[in-house]
Amino acid sequence: MKKLIFVTLAIIVLSACAAPVAPTQAPVVESAPATATGTTLYISATMHIETKFDSWPADKEAFLSFLQQTTDAGIRWSIGGDIGWLESAEDAQEIVQRSAAMGVQWDNHAHNPDDFGKIAYILNSWGVTPTNVVSGFLIQNFDSLQVSYSYQGTSWSPQVIWGGVVCAGHKPGCDDSSISLYRPTSSLQFELHNPNGQFIKLGGGSHQLADAESLAAQIANGQHPYPVIGYTIMVEPETYRIATSATDDINAILAFVERMNQYPFVRWETIQDTANAWVSAGGVPFQISE
Ligand SMILES: [Zn+2]
Repeated sequence: MKKLIFVTLAIIVLSACAAPVAPTQAPVVESAPATATGTTLYISATMHIETKFDSWPADKEAFLSFLQQTTDAGIRWSIGGDIGWLESAEDAQEIVQRSAAMGVQWDNHAHNPDDFGKIAYILNSWGVTPTNVVSGFLIQNFDSLQVSYSYQGTSWSPQVIWGGVVCAGHKPGCDDSSISLYRPTSSLQFELHNPNGQFIKLGGGSHQLADAESLAAQIANGQHPYPVIGYTIMVEPETYRIATSATDDINAILAFVERMNQYPFVRWETIQDTANAWVSAGGVPFQISE
């Protein structure tokens, strides 16, 4: 099967190469960051669908419609579905497949690293390749994080840790809320950058719209002179509102996108693509505390 796909791909690539290129066709140039410091602010968006039933999308069509509308507005989604939802929710497969067709990326969300292989296996079996992003990560597990996890012939490698639970339990105040991109050293020295570290940590900030806007204003003023800064807004899959906000619903999110688009240095990318851009731009580490 793999060989067949490869051969088909090779033919497509070959025929694409053989196609004549119109001489008048201008190359696609990505817009350069328009700050004096050369910063690009990558904004991603995530949802975590937990194993707990009360975080599951209650209405499949409403959920997919929310994703479609926000995707149409320019938001790039990185979603994490925990093992209990993937295995038990009747509509999980359809939600994963239809959202992936919209361009939504699926991260590997597990509170127990032993589940990484199985989650990747389930997503792959549905035809959706997970990113190399870990979400829902417990910092205490950092030292035992493996380079690769396997389950029934599927192997999966973590590359990027999004956020992280910095103290015991999954309680308020324990979630990392720094705006950061660096390579952690160890569980105990998680905030210390190790230039040779295997894993990239992206801290997405407080996930609130207002804090993203103040960050953008600071960048516009020349603060935080790093090539790539990442920020992640987070939406609750059961309410379609920004996590912990009672008011920031789809209308507030769409208005936020329009306001942020006024800044020429803002780009909308997934968590994985933000980390990729950070590596491409030299991997300059930073941590901004809120
Ligand atoms: Zn979780």
